[in-house]
Amino acid sequence: MSLEEHKRYLVENYAIPKIEILRGKGTKLWDTEGNEYLDFTSGIAVTNIGHSHSEWVKAISEQSKVLTHCSNLYSIPEQVRLAKRLVERIGPGKLIFCNSGAEANEGMIKLSRMVADQSEDSERNEIIVAKNAFHGRTMGALSATASSKYRNGFEPLLPGFRFADYNDLNAFESAITHNTRAIMIESIQGEGGIHMASKEFLRKLEKFCNERNLLLLMDEVQAGIGRTGEFLGFQHAGIQPSAIAMAKGLGGGFPIGAIWISEKWAGAFKPGSHGTTFGGSPLACSAAHSVLDVMEKEHLIQKAAELGNYLKGKLVEFIAKYPKLIIEVRGRGLMLGLVMIENPSTAINQMRQKGLLVVGAAGNSIRFLPPLTVEKKEIDHALCVVEEVLGNLQSDFPL
Ligand code: PLP
Repeated sequence: MSLEEHKRYLVENYAIPKIEILRGKGTKLWDTEGNEYLDFTSGIAVTNIGHSHSEWVKAISEQSKVLTHCSNLYSIPEQVRLAKRLVERIGPGKLIFCNSGAEANEGMIKLSRMVADQSEDSERNEIIVAKNAFHGRTMGALSATASSKYRNGFEPLLPGFRFADYNDLNAFESAITHNTRAIMIESIQGEGGIHMASKEFLRKLEKFCNERNLLLLMDEVQAGIGRTGEFLGFQHAGIQPSAIAMAKGLGGGFPIGAIWISEKWAGAFKPGSHGTTFGGSPLACSAAHSVLDVMEKEHLIQKAAELGNYLKGKLVEFIAKYPKLIIEVRGRGLMLGLVMIENPSTAINQMRQKGLLVVGAAGNSIRFLPPLTVEKKEIDHALCVVEEVLGNLQSDFPL
């Protein structure tokens, strides 16, 4: 197969570089020409336990021999056990499974509409979301995403969303009206350029929601599953939301999404009200169990915090060294953003040519999302590549 055939047979909705990825192990990926890459994208925060971890491979291989799919027509023991494990990590509540991040957010949007429908004031069904957020590409999740970059060409979208500035308590408070039913937010905006919600902001949102009987919906699709040094990103602030969307890292590369719903609201969905054919299949759940097993055995949440501090510290040193290129380093754990003055695509391309894969985000930022299993020597190697590229770019600037 060639990239010409890629262009011929695949819809061109991704702007991809000229490489074809064939194989992965741990932090490494190899292309069809045998070139090796350090993968600091983790497939956009998915392969948190690294590529093809031997225990994960064993778990899904074994499960595929027993049962891969039977639909949610019947109770699935692996799904029940996964729900129990997630409740033990998150708090009292119930789970509903799906297949992706956008679908998990759709579920949370539908939950708040269902709560509204079952209340005396069903008109009260609006959701306040943050400007610069990214909640996914399906029509509901897209309606909750303000950025014209994602919305253009797809309007009219769903009504019932109001937008307020991230981290701005006054903006959120003023956006609340008698029609507000929920607030939906990421603990760290990933696609938006690695902006962290302050602990104070999240605690205040929790307070607004408790005082006004609103649902607090956390989108942990990118920040969740150990990446920030807590199981879920909002746990740094010690708050308890009404519902949480998870996906990406949960399956470690096998698609699975989940919505945790607090006990207070878990009864809103009744038989027939929401569902999925594939969500929470035995195979997907076995992948998620294996991710949780590996995270526990290898202390990956703690590792994400420690190695994240190390990587962040080193990236911060580049601010003083390359002042014509870098403004800031943002993020927490192994969800970090290096914010550049100019469009970072040249830097990203050069890093890739030197064997380091990173991913861009809004606001001229470069995301560093290595697997939580990354080794310190791999971080050091990645930093050498970053430094080499920054050095070359800075020397292009006149004094
Ligand atoms: N929510 C957040 C915070 C995300 O970062 C993403 C994807 O990047 C999504 C939702 C959508 O997830 P998916 O691509 O699995 O639909």
